[in-house]
Amino acid sequence: MPLDFLGDLRRTHMCGELRAEHTGARVILLGWVNRRRDLGNVIFIDVRDRSGMTQLVFDKGENAAVHEKASNLRSEYVIAAIGKVRRRDADTINKNIATGEIEVTVDELKLLNESKLPPFLPSEAGPINEEVRLKYRYIDLRRENMQANIQLRHNVALAIRQDLAARGFLEIETPFMTRSTPEGARDYLVPSRVHPGEFYALPQSPQLFKQILMISGFDKYFQIVRCFRDEDLRADRQPEFTQIDLEMSFPQPDRVFEVVESFLKAAFKAAGIDLPTPFVRMTYDQAIRQYGIDKPDMRLPAMTDIRPAFTDEDLAELRIDGNLNMVGIRIPNVGKISDREKKELRALSEELGKRNKDFAGVLYDFAQLEKKRPQVAAKIRELCGAGADDLVVPVVGIAAEGKTRSAANQKAQFTSGGEARLELARKYADKHKAFERTGEVARDFKLLWVTDFPMFEYDEGERRWNAAHHPFTSPHEQDMDKLQADPGAVRALAYDVVLNGTELGSGSIRIHRQDIQKQIFTSLGMTDDEARSRFGFFLDALEYGTPPHGGIALGLDRIVMILAGEDSLREVIPFPKTAKAIDMMVDAPTPVSEAQLRDLGIKIR
Ligand code: ASP
Repeated sequence: MPLDFLGDLRRTHMCGELRAEHTGARVILLGWVNRRRDLGNVIFIDVRDRSGMTQLVFDKGENAAVHEKASNLRSEYVIAAIGKVRRRDADTINKNIATGEIEVTVDELKLLNESKLPPFLPSEAGPINEEVRLKYRYIDLRRENMQANIQLRHNVALAIRQDLAARGFLEIETPFMTRSTPEGARDYLVPSRVHPGEFYALPQSPQLFKQILMISGFDKYFQIVRCFRDEDLRADRQPEFTQIDLEMSFPQPDRVFEVVESFLKAAFKAAGIDLPTPFVRMTYDQAIRQYGIDKPDMRLPAMTDIRPAFTDEDLAELRIDGNLNMVGIRIPNVGKISDREKKELRALSEELGKRNKDFAGVLYDFAQLEKKRPQVAAKIRELCGAGADDLVVPVVGIAAEGKTRSAANQKAQFTSGGEARLELARKYADKHKAFERTGEVARDFKLLWVTDFPMFEYDEGERRWNAAHHPFTSPHEQDMDKLQADPGAVRALAYDVVLNGTELGSGSIRIHRQDIQKQIFTSLGMTDDEARSRFGFFLDALEYGTPPHGGIALGLDRIVMILAGEDSLREVIPFPKTAKAIDMMVDAPTPVSEAQLRDLGIKIR
């Protein structure tokens, strides 16, 4: 079919805009053919743009030439339709679409472009193979759900920007071509042509730049910024992802929390959700003891210390070492469990033992306990606040030889309890319903701050201490004296913001003093020379009047994913990579030409 030019045609309305009150208006709509229904003398076409759809009517009796032209339209053709809005008959009103009360009778039709038959139609309901969706992302993005997600992403980012700007934060860009940053993942490298054999690194975060911006006196910085980490492939990781990155001068952690709570409230509001603030605050230590994990999902009850349920006599009789930690897990509304489920509990107990070499605990068979020591069982249920239908699983230490009382073992009692709690929570999700979604989105948003993380993590393989956050994180003022003697006990002024068991962001108050920074490098086993060769520019900058400062970075993709009620980051990133870090649409990465390599002085081994 011959194509028409757009000429000076301008749309009068978007395709999702027309309502009953527009009846009688002459309108011009531009968009894609979503669906065509040919009833012979009458053809209906839904014309679609990002705002929605309008039903167009082509009546042979009224305009044979336009009707003839419409009969040649196919899915995804691009058209201009000029016509008159009319009210639909009561029995043809479509309540499912916003424009469902009206239709447009078309008297002039322009065909602006044709389309090949796409591998799937944007209107297709059924599940579509994800690789095909990613390869034909331009078609995929036309789907209503993707349009809504990308729109939501815009709304959320805009709300965050506006909130931060209103609080005096400046959005400042930092370079993408830079040198290695301290986040601890592998860098993506960019070879330099003019300096053969030398490389830029893509930033894992703007960490040192944002700290330098504080040294430069900008006081409050933010950036919604792409970060790059070449990590081992995991299902829900993207090699490039977007962070809401910020830094401020002279803050206590509380000041950072206020700022984040404020923009998250604004972001949730953009998705129509009222988020109560301030969030719960809890130290790392508390989180481990109560939830057995540093990112607690508070939609279900915390674990309970059940040691008080046992008398010395009970312990002796049950052969339980009373010096160990014991916690009770309660999962509401599970009801009676079958023999098969009891067996599964025993299997889970063994599995946890295998997973964690420091765990010498068992998920105690509650039914057994009820038989052997009914008063203990009753006390445990009481301590856990269990109702008649609640499942209670005690996690108690058995006296494994040797290491049962080490710090690692003590912690493992809690973390294994935490793992069991989550497994049981998932297993019985349909019973306790705490993880339920209403409509698209989880309705119960439990946010919290976890504070006072350990400063260092011990790397068993390398036999040395690593920075748990990054090496510019400030130790707790009260723990400075333990830096050399007992690094494992040093707390950091580091914090995470956690939502329903997922970490949304991490940050810290930074070291602003040269002398302390030196001590930290020493604790990390880094020589002066090493530190200088990696971060020399930054260490120099620290010497020129660095103010106390701190900040945080939150993953925008994850926030939008949760607000959109999606389970995958790929649903909210316009052009994502697969779990294998491949861009299916442009087909990247690819080999490059011999000439390009020669230019760069690179030879592939
Ligand atoms: N740069 C850190 C990160 O990306 C966040 C921070 O410390 O502000 O995880």
